[in-house]
Amino acid sequence: MSFKLNAKNLGIVTAYWLEHYMTDHCTLCGNHGWIDTRGTRTPAGKDVGRVNYCICPNGQQLRAIGAKLPSNTEEHNAEV
Ligand SMILES: [Zn+2]
Repeated sequence: MSFKLNAKNLGIVTAYWLEHYMTDHCTLCGNHGWIDTRGTRTPAGKDVGRVNYCICPNGQQLRAIGAKLPSNTEEHNAEV
């Protein structure tokens, strides 16, 4: 069974975000609407990071309008 996000269950995602990730701002993305996890690795060392829209309302809106996010192939500037 797969999960497909649609208008009906988008409210469930928002409620989950409100309960777990909302303070004064989105604690996932700082209200930017996107999250950059490039440089993230599994404990076994497999690179799994990428640039994603956040699940918060800002991220949902960016996804809805098809906003361009930093490319996954652009230089990663994470602090080491
Ligand atoms: Zn967010």
